[in-house]
Amino acid sequence: MDVIDKLRILSEDSRYDLACACGTADDEHRKRGSDGRWIYPVVLPEGGSTVLLKTLLSNACANDCRYCPLRSGSNVRRCTLGPEEIARAFMEYYWKRKVFGLFLSSAVIRDPDYTMDKMIAAARILRNRWAYRGYIHLKIIPGASDAAIEEALSLSTAVSLNIETPGERHCAVLSKKKIFRRDILRPLTLMAKLTEPGARYSRVKCTTQFIVGASDETDREIIHYMVGLYKRLRFKRVYFSAYQRGLGDESIPGEQKGASDPREQFIREHRLYQVDFLIRKYGFRIEDIVLDRYGNLSADKDPKEMWAERHPEFFPVRLNRASREELVRVPGIGPETASRIIDMRRVHKITDVAMIGVRGNRLKQISSYVVCE
Ligand code: SF4
Repeated sequence: MDVIDKLRILSEDSRYDLACACGTADDEHRKRGSDGRWIYPVVLPEGGSTVLLKTLLSNACANDCRYCPLRSGSNVRRCTLGPEEIARAFMEYYWKRKVFGLFLSSAVIRDPDYTMDKMIAAARILRNRWAYRGYIHLKIIPGASDAAIEEALSLSTAVSLNIETPGERHCAVLSKKKIFRRDILRPLTLMAKLTEPGARYSRVKCTTQFIVGASDETDREIIHYMVGLYKRLRFKRVYFSAYQRGLGDESIPGEQKGASDPREQFIREHRLYQVDFLIRKYGFRIEDIVLDRYGNLSADKDPKEMWAERHPEFFPVRLNRASREELVRVPGIGPETASRIIDMRRVHKITDVAMIGVRGNRLKQISSYVVCE
């Protein structure tokens, strides 16, 4: 196989890793650009978008994650790119201005540090030989040593390690080889420590990703871990990837659950992103998130609407007097609309909800929660 053949396979296999792309309802983030199958338009953790060459270094995995099509023993075409091949292919696309950054992940070849060595070697060639100063996102392989993590941080703009499951029990259901505390929690904690404000690598962004619905985890468990990652470990972004039926082995809980409705996990993924935004951008606390008796979010209504239904005493919100925090609690009003309302009322009184610049169903929705007196 030549480099292009390998890229075709390895880039295709990297599409389930969203650790630098925002989730959307319509599955946009799993699609690739038309100009080269390994070029992905992505939203970066710190905001803004770019185009990345996104690939695995190898898909020949020694691990056994039951939700993953690349697990050892599964029937896929295996290949590996060398550090030189990756660096050269990337620079060629970069010189042609087709990509503006590299996202490099990998299956586990032999063991975590052997894999990290190869990825680090590719990044080092880019930084040292080609003097490339742009965006590099390196995946930290579960179980990587402290030294390998530190070296990856020294070369990267962003790093990520997928937490995948909320806790030890779910991890054990899905993999016999990965030990949650040793291989996931320890590296995540070290990444957080080395990138905290004032630390040597504070410029490097850390992100992670949950796989949603492969085990029998609840939304409550995922949300609690997500809040811990933001508050205690100060991660920049947490992503969610709906488990897709048919990719894993047939005896995992997700295969059984997904059998009833394959769209179910995508709705869960979308709801979790909504909660993520409510907590990061809207000032919601974990206690504000409404869960059903099984600990899951509503599939039918968004989490802000669910909160509004539970809190009739909070409404109606007065458009001309409410604080920013109160405005963003209104279903249909986001941070941008709240800012517009605040700017507008500095100049004149809002006498009609339509003056805030929203239309259609959103206007109807907002109107049922606010007054203009
Ligand atoms: S470590 Fe697990 S998730 Fe990653 S490629 Fe290997 S089997 Fe798949």
